[in-house]
Amino acid sequence: MNGPQPSMPAESQHPYDVIIVGAGPAGLTAAIYATRGGLSALVLERKVAGGQMMLTDHVENYPGFAEGVAGGELADVMRRQSLRFGAELREIEAVQTLAPGSTKQLVTSSGTYAAKAVILACGMDPTGLGCPGEHEFRGRGVSYCAVCDGFLFEDKVVAVIGGGNSAVEEALYLARLARKVYIVHRRDELRADRICCSRAEENPKIEILWSCQLREIRGGGEGVESMLVEFANKKELASISVDGIFFYVGQTPNTGFLKGVVELDPRGFIVTNDHLETSSPGIFAAGDCRANQLKQVVWAAAEGALAAEGAERYLDSYVLDTCECA
Ligand code: NAP
Repeated sequence: MNGPQPSMPAESQHPYDVIIVGAGPAGLTAAIYATRGGLSALVLERKVAGGQMMLTDHVENYPGFAEGVAGGELADVMRRQSLRFGAELREIEAVQTLAPGSTKQLVTSSGTYAAKAVILACGMDPTGLGCPGEHEFRGRGVSYCAVCDGFLFEDKVVAVIGGGNSAVEEALYLARLARKVYIVHRRDELRADRICCSRAEENPKIEILWSCQLREIRGGGEGVESMLVEFANKKELASISVDGIFFYVGQTPNTGFLKGVVELDPRGFIVTNDHLETSSPGIFAAGDCRANQLKQVVWAAAEGALAAEGAERYLDSYVLDTCECA
C-alpha cells in the first residue's frame, strides 16, 4: 500500500494506512509491525518519543537486557528501529479525532492528517494530589520526574509521595543523589514489587513514613522548604524539612481528545475487545491508555504488535471514502 508524500500539505494528502498516536513502547512497536507489514505509518508524539520510558532511570524487567537498560536508551533503540522500517515520526499533538466514515481525520497542533486506520497508544500522564502548595511550587521543588529533576537535589533532602513501583524505584534512584529520601505512603504496606521494597527498606538513606499523608507543601522564594504530613495515629500535623517533593501517586490516561469518538471507561481508559478494537471500527488502542491490567513496557509493546496486526487485517477489507480522499 502506498503512503502519502511527506512534503505535501497535510490536508491534501491521501490517507496514511495507519496513524499511530503516541510514541511510547506501544506506539513504536505498532509502528515496527505496521511498516514491516507494508503499511505506511505516521506516528504522532506530542512530547518526545519514548513516553514514560523517558522518565524511568533503569528498566530491569524488559527481556533481552541481562543487566537492565536505561529507560532513555530503550526508547531510543525502539525509535530508531521503527524509523528503519519507514515509519514517519512527527512531534505534534493530536487534539481531535474525527471518524465519520471509513477514513479517519486526526486534527493536530499542526494540520489535519487522514488515515484508513488509527492506533491509539497515547499513554498516561502522572497526576498529583492537588494539595496546597503543589501547584505553587511546581518546578521549584515539586516534580513528577526524578530522572529529569533529581540532579537538582544532590546532597539535599527529598520526599517521594506514593508506595507503588514508580515511587519506590524513583526513591532508590534519588537515594543515589540526595542526602536523605522520605517515602510518604498512606498505608502500612508498599504496593511495589517485593524486590524493590526490600531494596528501599535496606537503603540507609531512605526512611519510609508509614500510614502518612501529605497535607501541604510550604516554602518561600527559593522553593520548597518543608512538608506538612498527617500520620494516621496522630492528631496533629507534623512539619518535616525537605528541599524537594516527587509525586508518584498514579496516572491519568491521555484520552481527553477521544471523548465521543471511542468508548472510555469511567476513569477515562479506552475500552477495547481482545483484538484491541475500540468501539469505532478501524480504531485500535494499545498500551497504558487502554483499560488493561498490566502497565508495563513489555505488555505495552506486545499490545502495539497486536494492534498493528489488527489494523493490517482491517485494511484488507478497507474501502476508501471517495468523497473525502479522492
Ligand atoms: P500505582 O501502582 O497505582 O501506585 C500509586 C501509589 O500512589 C500507591 O501506593 C497509592 O497508594 C498512592 N496513592 C494514590 N492515590 C493517593 C492519594 N490520594 N494519597 C496518597 N497516596 C496515593 O502507580 P505507579 O507506581 O505509577 O505504577 C503504575 C503501574 O506501572 C503499576 O502497575 C506498576 O506496577 C507499573 N510500574 C512498573 C514498573 C516496573 O516494573 N519497572 C515501574 C513503574 C511502574 P495505595 O497503595 O494505598 O493505593
